Parts: sequence; structure tokens; C-alpha cells
Amino acid sequence: MKALIIKQPGEAIVQSVAEPVVKGQDLLLKVRMIGLCGSDLNSFRGKNPMVSFPRVPGHEVAATIVQGNSNLAAGTDVTVSPYTNCGKCASCRRNRPNACQFNETLGVQRDGALAEYITMPPEKLYTAKLSVKELCQVEPFAVGFHAVARGRVTAHDTVAIFGCGGVGLGAVAACHLRGARTIAVDVADGKLSLARKAGADCAIDSSQESLHEKLLEFTDGLGPDVIIEAIGTPQTFRAAVEEVAFTGRVVYVGYAKELVAYETRLFVQKELDIMGSRNALPEDFRQVIQMLEQRLFPVDDAVSAIVPIEETPALLRAWTENPSRFSKIMVSLD
Ligand SMILES: [Zn+2]
Ligand SMILES: [Zn+2]
Repeated sequence: MKALIIKQPGEAIVQSVAEPVVKGQDLLLKVRMIGLCGSDLNSFRGKNPMVSFPRVPGHEVAATIVQGNSNLAAGTDVTVSPYTNCGKCASCRRNRPNACQFNETLGVQRDGALAEYITMPPEKLYTAKLSVKELCQVEPFAVGFHAVARGRVTAHDTVAIFGCGGVGLGAVAACHLRGARTIAVDVADGKLSLARKAGADCAIDSSQESLHEKLLEFTDGLGPDVIIEAIGTPQTFRAAVEEVAFTGRVVYVGYAKELVAYETRLFVQKELDIMGSRNALPEDFRQVIQMLEQRLFPVDDAVSAIVPIEETPALLRAWTENPSRFSKIMVSLD
């Protein structure tokens, strides 16, 4: 079967590899479509310290069951939770398997799904009445939904979301569903208009306008009750703490790639709740599926390109040269 392999940073090829062997209770799946996000781009560029090479990327999956079991029939379309949980670490014992100490995400710590066939444990599969294009957007949105759950967002809150990629858009949609007032922040016009369609009440283009002034204007001078950081730069990490209201909540879902220096006085003075948010729980997956089944999200607008697997190496190179050219890229394996 065909698989996309990142041989080393900057070099990806489509290669013929052996089909996976089905073990234990695992099910054999035909991969239909894979979503690529910024973390795949970082893997390709060698910027993700958790990725070793060679590596098959792909963690945003739409697939069809080939060999089913009594609960999941052959022919059923599914999406996949790409994480593992050991069951023994502190997170797993606390019933927070999304943050398992020994997690191996598809395409990161282990080979991913950008291949014609994969095998998966049945408990990692989610059925849904969704198109393949929708199925492979469930995972990034679920990560955003989880961040909103971590932030305990309610209808009384005004929430600012820094970064409107897949995760940020999921956070916008989750805040909107909870009835919160939502402010989307990004530097790209296209992402901001998409955020508005996903339910953002206000949008700030921080490359054109003052983030500080605009946030105060939208919040009667108080600052947002909750800030969700989905970018991962030192500036945005710091801005979250600086701009959030007194006694507010800050949720970090972006991975910072360098050290961040803080005015820690603000943690105390504002009595902030500062939280990390990692991956997503089964309930986050189910909530996203429900939202997409109700057609509450403009999925089609979110996809900037669909390519066959053969064109993926060239596309990864083009994306590296111009990261803002694409938002969501899909690889079709049909
Ligand atoms: Zn992703
Ligand atoms: Zn664990």
C-alpha cells in the first residue's frame, strides 16, 4: 500500500509499504481522508522535538471500517482518537487520559494515518453521520472544545481566543455553543471571517489594530474573563496574562517552542487561574460530532485545499515556503 513518509526534515516521499497486520481486537480501516495542520507542518520542518524520523504523519482521520466486529460493522465511516493512554500514570488514574504521561499520538511519537490502511483499537473509533471532509476535522475541533471545558466557560463569560487555526476555531465554536461572548484574535483576514461564521461576536486583527485597546473596548475596560491561547509564541503567552481580567482564567493550548519570560506579579495580583490543556477527551469528540451533525459549523469554508497523496510532498514544500498560504489542507486517499 501507499504511505507518505517524512524521511528527514524537509524530505517527504510517497512509498510502497507493507499493509498493517491486524492484532488482537484491533480493526482494519481504509483511510479516506487526512487533515494536515500546523503540527504536521512543524514535523515536516523538523521543528517538533517529539517527532523522530522516518515518520508517517497524519492524526486527523476519516476512515471506513474494512474488517469490523459485532458493534462496528464493515463499511461504517469513522473518525479516530489519535492518542493512547497507559492506564497507570497519574493523569490516567485521575481519569484524565487525554494528558497521559506516556501518550503516543499518531504521526508524532508513532507512525500516523497518512497511508491507505491502518489498524486501530475499536475504543478509539467514533461513528458519525458526517462526510469524510467533516470526519477529519473532528480531532482539531475537539482539542479546542477541551480547552473551553478546561476554562469552565459559561454564558456569563466574555472569552478571547488567540489564534483561529483548527484548534482556535473549535474553541470559538465551543464558546458560542455555551452562550459566551466570543472575541476571535488572529493576523489573517480569512481566518477571522471564518471565526465569525463559527460564532465569534467580535474579531481583532492584531496586525492592524491594538490588541490591548480593542480588548478593553469590547469588555467595558475590564479585559476578557477567559483567554484561550492557541498560537504558542512568547508574545501571545505573555499577552494572555497581561490582557485577561482580574480573577480571570487563562488556558494555554498552544505549545511554546522557546522559553517565555513573565511578569509573575500579575499571576498573584490578578489571582489568575492559569491552565494547560492537552489533546481531548471522548466527551469532547462526541460534542464536536454532535455540533457538526447539526450543521452548526461552516466546514467547507475551513478547507483551503484537497490533494491526492501523490501531490502531498510538493504541497508540504510549498506550505513550508509560505505557511500563511494554506489554513486547512486535506489529503484524499479515495
Ligand atoms: Zn492537527
Ligand atoms: Zn497514562
